[in-house]
Order: sequence, then C-alpha cells, then structure tokens
Amino acid sequence: MDLMDGILPGATIGILGGGQLGRMMALAARQMGYKIAVLEKEKNSPCGQIADYEVIGDYQDLEKAEELARISDVVTYEFENISLETAKVIERIGKLPQGSQLLGISQHRGREKRAIESLAIKVAPYHLINDLQDLQRAVSKLGLPAILKTCRGGYDGKGQWVLKGQGDFLKVVEELDFNQQYILEKMIPFTKELSIIVNRNSKGHVTSFPISENIHLNGILHITIAPARIDKVIEEQVKAIGITLARGLNLVGTLAVEMFLTEEGEIFVNELAPRPHNSGHYTIEGCEISQFAQHIRATTNLPLGSTKLLKPSVMINILGEDLENVLSSIAKLADAHLHLYGKEESKKGRKMGHITFLGDTVEEALTKAKGSGFIKA
Ligand code: ADP
Ligand code: MG
Repeated sequence: MDLMDGILPGATIGILGGGQLGRMMALAARQMGYKIAVLEKEKNSPCGQIADYEVIGDYQDLEKAEELARISDVVTYEFENISLETAKVIERIGKLPQGSQLLGISQHRGREKRAIESLAIKVAPYHLINDLQDLQRAVSKLGLPAILKTCRGGYDGKGQWVLKGQGDFLKVVEELDFNQQYILEKMIPFTKELSIIVNRNSKGHVTSFPISENIHLNGILHITIAPARIDKVIEEQVKAIGITLARGLNLVGTLAVEMFLTEEGEIFVNELAPRPHNSGHYTIEGCEISQFAQHIRATTNLPLGSTKLLKPSVMINILGEDLENVLSSIAKLADAHLHLYGKEESKKGRKMGHITFLGDTVEEALTKAKGSGFIKA
C-alpha cells in the first residue's frame, strides 16, 4: 500500500495508547470502515473496548510496538509521551506518516519553545533550569509571579509549581530533583486562554478548526466555548499562528496549539500537542467534521473535510468526582451530548467523559450549559 495514494477504509489503523483520545479516534475511524488495533498496558482500555485487535504491553516496549505495526497498515499515537525510539522504529518501517520529529519537539518544553520562536511566534519569557543556581538567576531575571514546570512528562497541571513569592520559592526548592530539567516561565496575565486545532495531510493540505476559548480549573481543562469570543483581528492572528506552525513544523496529522491572550491583544503560544486535544471535543457535534475524523483523514492521507462550525458549542469535562452526579441527573441532560469513556476506575481529577451543549448562539449554548449545574467556575 502506498501512503501517498491514501490508505483506504478496510485497512487497519494502529493506535499507540488506549485512552479516550484513542477511543474517539477509533470511533471516527470505524465509522469510516477502518479496522482498529491498539497497544495499551491493560485489556479493555477505553480504546481497547472498541478495537478489533488489542496488543497488551507497555508503549515503551519496542517488541510490542513492532507487533502493533505488523498488524496495522498505518500507526498513529494518542499521547505524546510514547517513547521517541518506538516512534522512530515505526517511522523507519514506513508506517508512521506523522513522523517522529514533531513528537520529539513536543516532548520537551524547552525544545518546543525554541521551535515556536524559530517561526517568529511569541512564547512567555522563559529560562531552562538545570540546578538551583539557574533557578535563582531565572527568578531574579523574570521576577515573580512565575511558573516552574518539568520539561518532560507534565499534563493536566502536573509537574508545575506557581511561584508567587519568596515563600513559594523555598518550598518548591525542597521538592525539585535536578536529575531532570525544568523550565521557569513568566506568568502571563491573560484575559483568555485560546486554542486552535490544525490538521495537515502528507499532500500538504491544511485546515484549521474554529478557535476555542478554554477555562481551566486546578490545571485541568474545565470548559471549552466555541467559537471563542474574540474580535476578527485576533481571530485572524490565531489562525495564522496555527497555520504557520503546521507548515513550519511539517505537520502530518493533528496539532493543537494552546495560547494566552492578554488585555493588550498580545498572543503567546503556551504549548503544543501533536494529537487531537480536549479543547476540540466540541467538534464532534459542533463542526461538519470532528477533530478525530480529520485526524484519521490526515494520517491516512485522504482529502481533509470541512471544519465549518455547525453550531456554537460549550463542552464541560466530567472528572471522577463529577461522574456520580452526572449519572444521577441524566434525565436533565436530554438536550446535551454525553460522552463517557468507559474507564473502569473513577478517580478524583481523572477525565471520565465530557458533555457538549449546542446553541444557535454562544450565549444560548452557555445558558444551557449553566442550567445543567455542571459548570464550577
Ligand atoms: P499542561 O501540560 O499541564 O497542560 P500547561 O503548560 O498548558 O501544562 O499549563 C496548564 C495551565 O496552567 C495553562 O492552561 C494555564 O492556565 C496555566 N499556565 C501555564 N503556564 C502559564 C504561564 N506562563 N502564564 C500563565 N498561566 C500559565
Ligand atoms: Mg496545556
């Protein structure tokens, strides 16, 4: 099968990682007639439940990854912290059209920031930290408040410390382990957090989804409002940033770009995710094509679909602590689109599902969402 011609339905798509993003990719792919194979540590994962083949093993296990690649015509990942070596092996056998380069960039916050800056796009001022002296120097240069992050492996606000004053600094120092690298970023006083999801196939066709507005709670995405309530000038700038990154980083697949917008109208890119993103879940009902179907089209090198907004949308994440309440109020959710990920264990802060409300206007969608009682902030 030649990747450049497009991999047609009937073929098998292998997914590294069995979480909700893999599950929603798989649902979109199955609808189109693809078969699904998944590599995940345990059987019956959110993606495993709906896959045709489950390979059970660690994503870092090269042999297991090769087994996944053997039974698949093309492989994608749902999670950027798979080992780079695994990605390179699958790339070498010609089954990872997304490649390993962008994955490598997005696995390290310092590398990611340099790649963004190299395309003349702004990021928050930052310093890389290897030891206590670096940290002291960075704090005196950037000033406080600032935010310290591990360079690798962070998600949902994990591996981050907000430094507001000297007291925080002293507390944080005790928790650090200088066997790993950190990054200190200036705290950006944003008025809104925005994100854009862009896709590109191997033929170079690029699309972008309507920009969304994101509200986080305790470092975890709480709600997404789409389209973002921003003026036309900002909208064009955000779109240009997304497309510049897609082309400049040779994207194949999906790239989600998280950004801060300030009072003065400055835009700083916060981070990149080389995969479908939580802030794009609204596209399942809100847009002509979902981010998951577009991801499948981009990685199989089919023509990309229209990302046009069908209806303004508000998405609310359902965490472990919300699940019971959602289930007991299901009667009130008739007018909402409920998605649960089939996770066996419900834990505090763990993403168990999401709900999307549609409206004829953003205000209408927001009113419905607020009426559900699941908006916390
Ligand atoms: P994660 O990988 O956990 O998503 P992020 O870098 O996106 O890490 O940080 C999580 C959240 O913390 C952001 O969405 C934002 O609300 C806040 N945050 C992170 N960095 C900054 C910053 N430099 N200035 C202001 N807020 C920040
Ligand atoms: Mg983030």
